[in-house]
This record gives sequence, C-alpha cells and structure tokens, in this order.
Amino acid sequence: MSGITLDINEFHWMTQILDTMDSGLVVLDLDNNVVVWNNFMQSYSGISSQNILGRNLFDSYDGLPRSWLEAKISNATVLETRCFSSWENRPYLFAFKNFSPVSHGSQFMYQDVVFTPLKSLCGGVSHIAIQITDVSETAHHKIYLNTTNQQLSELSRKDGLTNLYNRISWEQNLEKEFERMVYASEPSSLVMFDIDHFKAINDTYGHHVGDEVIRATAKLLRKSVRKGDVCGRYGGEEFTVILPNTCTEQARLFAERLRASIEQAKIEHAGQQIKFTISLGVCQYHPSFQNHIAWLNSVDAALYRSKDGGRNQTQVIDLIKSSMRNA
Ligand code: GH3
Ligand code: MG
Ligand code: MG
Repeated sequence: MSGITLDINEFHWMTQILDTMDSGLVVLDLDNNVVVWNNFMQSYSGISSQNILGRNLFDSYDGLPRSWLEAKISNATVLETRCFSSWENRPYLFAFKNFSPVSHGSQFMYQDVVFTPLKSLCGGVSHIAIQITDVSETAHHKIYLNTTNQQLSELSRKDGLTNLYNRISWEQNLEKEFERMVYASEPSSLVMFDIDHFKAINDTYGHHVGDEVIRATAKLLRKSVRKGDVCGRYGGEEFTVILPNTCTEQARLFAERLRASIEQAKIEHAGQQIKFTISLGVCQYHPSFQNHIAWLNSVDAALYRSKDGGRNQTQVIDLIKSSMRNA
C-alpha cells in the first residue's frame, strides 16, 4: 500500500516538473498521437492539453514541416538514439510568437529541438519525446554579432572618404581577376587615373575643398561604371578600375567618357566654381604578364604617358597590338 502511495506521489511531482519546466515537452506514440503536451506547449501554442491529448499531432497543429519531422522521428526510433536540431539549421519547429525583450524585431521564437526515443518496459521504442528549448536570446545575439562583423569587414575594405575599395582590398580583387584571366577567353582591362595638379587645388582652396574634389571624382566614377566593374581609391588622388569583359578599345572609350564628364564638372566653393581634370591610363590583360603587379605596372606606365603628354588625356598600352606588330 505504501509503495502505491509513493508511486502516486512520484507521478504527482513529476507532472509538476513537466508543467513548470522552462521548455516545451511533447511525447508522441508511434502513430504520432500526442501523449504529453506540457504547460509550456499550452501557453505558446494556445492549444490546451485536453484538446490535443490522444489526437494526431499533424491533424491538430498546422504548419509543421511534416516530412522533415517524420524523418527525425523515424531516425530516433530506428537508431534508438537521440537526434538534435539546431536553430541555425532550422530556426523553429513550432511557429511560436517571440515575447523576448531582445527580439530585435523578430516575430518568432528560435528553437533547439531534441528528439529522444522512449523505451517501454518490454524494451522496444514505444514513444518519442520532443523537447523544445527557447534559444531566441542566444540566436539574436549571434545574428547581431554576425551582422556587425560583416559590416565591420565591409568597412575595413572601403575607403572612408569615397566609399570605394581601399588599396589593399582593390589589389586583392585585381589578384583574383588576374587568376581568372589566366583561364578566361574574354578580355579584361584596367584603368588607372590621377587628378591633375591636385596639389594646386589643395594649396589654393584648402584640404577640405581637395577632399570635396576627391569625393566628386569618386561619385562621377561610380556613375560611369557597370555592375561588376571594381573601383578603388588607390592612393591620395589616384583611382583604379577593373573592367571585366572589356577590351582595350571599349576601356579607352570608357576612360574618355569619364575624362569628359570630369572636365565638365564644377565644384562650388565660396561663390567660385572649381574645375579640374584627370589623366588616365588603360591596359588590357595580356598573357605575358607574370602576375597582377605586372598588369598594374603597365597601366601605371600608360597613366604616366598621359601626364608626360600634357595631362587631361587617355593613353593606352596595347600589348596585343605590339605583339602582333612584332610577330
Ligand atoms: P599631377 O598633375 O602630376 O598629378 O600633380 P598633383 O599635384 O596632382 O600630384 P602630387 O602628387 O604632387 O600631389 C598630390 C597631393 O594630394 C599631395 C597630397 O597632400 C594630396 N592628398 C593626398 N591625399 C589627400 C586627401 O585625402 N585629401 C586631400 N585634400 N589631399 C590629399
Ligand atoms: Mg595628381
Ligand atoms: Mg598622384
């Protein structure tokens, strides 16, 4: 008699544990009928245990990922081992609303889920326990951290004044483009340009105006390029552009259009209109380049021909034509 009393007591406080635990517990039999549906599940689903116990889970709760859930249950049953599902792979199993104060606008509760096979007294698996843990806070912190890291890494690749790629990251892009070109069949070109007599702009109007001229140049450059072209601020008033799928002549036309648009631009300062020009170099990829630095040196040489030739112009180094001439 005392043994039975103990069992009822045990059952009583175990039920209390199930109902006060801070995670969801669902137990299913092998036909997916609900045998346990604890308080947590009642509160978040809005379905009372009276309305779900003894009924098939899929008939009673809409929106469950049926084939995924059946596969998980089957794994746990057949392998007789626990299975896990992390919020990082599947954000949630039950679409519960999120009431967390750090939800950052998220509508649902992120959940980790554990499937545990339960054996009957005869030894075989007779039920599956599904435990749902609310991991919204951890998930939100991790997502926030990842987003911030991505933003920081993006910032570290950009130049603060112009928002173009800085020298290091632009050169990394160039290295990638060079490696691609070794196997690519279509052409690819580089453009490098430098603002003419920029020191005089700084000396005459001050560094702030100099900065404004650099920003305006970057803006006009951004307006001139296509998606996929890679623009960088290579140095103080020196810019570089990778033009994929572009041959020498197309790159020269691009450079001339940019030169003309900058020649026409005016910067307003203290009632005055400041005008400025750029000199440009163009060089298409050539298989004789040993590495990306060789390509960069060639486009730099083309730019310096423009400076030597009187500025406000585009010069081209065309290794394809020269090799044809030499053949
Ligand atoms: P050239 O026509 O031969 O290119 O002559 P330049 O005067 O344009 O070139 P130089 O190399 O003599 O001068 C470039 C100046 O650019 C020197 C440097 O102080 C200035 N500079 C570099 N970075 C910045 C910047 O971020 N803002 C401003 N305002 N000036 C800068
Ligand atoms: Mg200059
Ligand atoms: Mg310069």
